[in-house]
Amino acid sequence: MEAFDYVIVGAGSAGSVLASRLSEDPGTTVALLEAGPRDWHPFIHIPAGFIKTFKNRRINWCYDMEPSEGTAGRRVFAPRGKTLGGSSSINGHIYNRGQRMDFDNWAQRGNRGWGYADVLPYFRRMERRLGGDDTFRGRDGAMEVSDIPWRHPLCDAFIEGAVQHGIPRNPDYNGTTQEGVNYAQRTIGNGRRVSAATAFLKPAMKRPNLRVITHAHATGLILEGKRALGVRYAMGGRGGPAREVRARREVILSGGTYNSPQLLQLSGIGPASLIGDLGIPVVHELAGVGENLRDHYAPRFTARVKNIATINERARGWRLGLEVADWVFRRKGILGLSPTLVYCFWRSDPGIADCDMQMTFTPASYKEGVQGQLEDEPGMTVAPWQQRPESVGWVRARSADPFAAPIIQPNYLAEAEDQRVLLAGMRLARKLIHSAPLAPYLAYEAYPGADVQTDDEFLAVARERGTTTFHPAGTCRMGPASDPAAVVDDQLSVHGMEGLRVIDASIMPMMISANLNASALMIGEKGADLLRGRPAPDAAVLPR
Ligand SMILES: Cc1cc2nc3c(=O)[nH]c(=O)nc-3n(C[C@H](O)[C@H](O)[C@H](O)COP(=O)(O)OP(=O)(O)OC[C@H]3O[C@@H](n4cnc5c(N)ncnc54)[C@H](O)[C@@H]3O)c2cc1C
Repeated sequence: MEAFDYVIVGAGSAGSVLASRLSEDPGTTVALLEAGPRDWHPFIHIPAGFIKTFKNRRINWCYDMEPSEGTAGRRVFAPRGKTLGGSSSINGHIYNRGQRMDFDNWAQRGNRGWGYADVLPYFRRMERRLGGDDTFRGRDGAMEVSDIPWRHPLCDAFIEGAVQHGIPRNPDYNGTTQEGVNYAQRTIGNGRRVSAATAFLKPAMKRPNLRVITHAHATGLILEGKRALGVRYAMGGRGGPAREVRARREVILSGGTYNSPQLLQLSGIGPASLIGDLGIPVVHELAGVGENLRDHYAPRFTARVKNIATINERARGWRLGLEVADWVFRRKGILGLSPTLVYCFWRSDPGIADCDMQMTFTPASYKEGVQGQLEDEPGMTVAPWQQRPESVGWVRARSADPFAAPIIQPNYLAEAEDQRVLLAGMRLARKLIHSAPLAPYLAYEAYPGADVQTDDEFLAVARERGTTTFHPAGTCRMGPASDPAAVVDDQLSVHGMEGLRVIDASIMPMMISANLNASALMIGEKGADLLRGRPAPDAAVLPR
C-alpha cells in the first residue's frame, strides 16, 4: 500500500489550496484523491461555459435534494463540481468574502483564531487584486480577482435605480463594508476562469512530493480504533478496482458540504442511530455529522426588455458566432462574463446592524423552470436572497453504498425569520425593476408578474420557483467540545478522533453573508497552516 504524510480527499476549493500549501515543503509527501477527472473540459475555462457545466454529469455530481414544504414539495437541483478545482471549476465566479461580523460570530462561538482580524491575513495572502484598500485586499496571491471590463446600460440603470432608492454605490464590497450596489468582482483572469485548480493546484502538480489521483472515489476511511490510518477508494467509481492509500500523519476530508459528512457516516463516525440504520458498526458517535446544513435560497424575477439588446439575443445564431470570435481572439465579449453582473447588499429593516439581503442583477433571463437555459426574448433578471438563513437541514448517507447520492434535506424557509427577510428582498426586487432609470427599458414584469401582490402570494412564488444559489455549508460544524453538535474543533480536527480533519465549507458553524468560494479557499489556506504547525499570521488591525 502506498503511504504519504497526508492524504486529502477532494480537490475542490479548499482541498486544492491545501495540497498546494502542504507540498510547498519538499520534505512532506501529499496524496490528493479526486473522484472526478482532470479539468480538461473546455467549458470549465470559458466563463460563460457555466451554463454548459451546470448539468454535465462527467464533471458535476448533479444531486437532487429532498422535497420539503419550503419548496412546495419540489426537489431542488444541487450541482457540485466533480473535477480538479471542485465547485470552483463550475461556479458563477463571484468573489465575495462576507462581513466582519460573520467571522467574529464564529470566534464568539468558541472558535479561537477564526475572527475576522484573524482570517483576513489568509484572505489577503491568497488574493491578487488591483484596487481597493491595502488593509483588506491582497496584491500578490495566486487567486486573481478582477472587475468586469464590460458595461451594459441595463446594469448601469439598475445600479442608478438602487442608488435613487437610497442604497449607496460601494466601490469595494470586500473592503470596509459590504453594504451597497456595484458591478461584481470575479475570479476571472484574462477572460478565463480562475479556479482553485488553475490558481493553486496546477502549479504545484509538478512537485515530486505531490501525487494527484483523479477518478479516485473515496469509499471509506481506514481506521484503527479512533485513529485514521488512510483511505479506501475505487478507481473510476462503482465497479472500479479497490485501492488503499495510507497516511503517515493525517487524513483530511475536503469533499465539500454534502460529501464530507457522508464519508464520515459511511466510516462509522456520526449519529449512532443513523449509522446503525445503515448497518455500519459505530466507531465514534458524533451527533452533529451531517446536521446544521445551511444554504441560500432565491426566487428570480424576470422582466421583458425593450429598446435594447440583452445577453439572451447575443447568445444565439450569428451574433453568438461574433461573440465566440471575440472571446477566441481578444478574450472579450459575453463569453468572458460571469452569469450575474451586479451585486446589491441591503437591509430588510433599517434596525439591522449589517445588510441581511443579497440581490443579483443580470441583463439576461433564464427559461422559467428550466435552469441554465437562456430565454429567446430580451430579458433581465433580479434574484434576492437572505444572507444568513436560520433554517437548518441535514445530509445523511442513503445507504452503506458509497456510490449512492446522499440524502439532502435543506429545509428552506422553515423559519419565520427566513420568510420575513426573503419577502423584504422580493419586494425590494420588484421596486428596483420598476425604478425610474430602468423605465425606458422595461416592457413588463414577466415573472412572477403583476398579479402577485400579497405576502402569501410572494411566499407561494418563492416556494414554487426558488432555487439554491449553490452555497451549502455547516454539516461538519466547527465548535468547542462543549458544543454537542460540533464535529471539528478550531484546529479542524474531528472531535474524539486522531489523525483526522475536515477542511472545506462544511466546517462553517453559521452561514456567512456571502457566496462561499472565497471563504472555502481561506479555510484551505488556514487549514494548511494548522497542519504545518505554523504560527498564525499577525491579526489584522481593523478600523473601528
Ligand atoms: C453551480 C455553482 C455556482 C456557484 N457560484 C458561486 C459563485 O459565483 N461564487 C462563490 O463564491 N461561490 C459559488 N459557488 C459555491 C462555491 O464554489 C463552493 O461553496 C466552494 O467551491 C466549496 O468548496 P469546498 O472545498 O467546500 O468543496 P468543493 O469545491 O465542492 O470540492 C469538493 C471536492 O471533493 C470531491 N469529492 C467529493 N467526494 C469525494 C469522494 N468520495 N472521493 C473523492 N473526491 C470527492 C469533489 O468531486 C470535489 O472536487 C457555486 C457553486 C456551484 C456548484
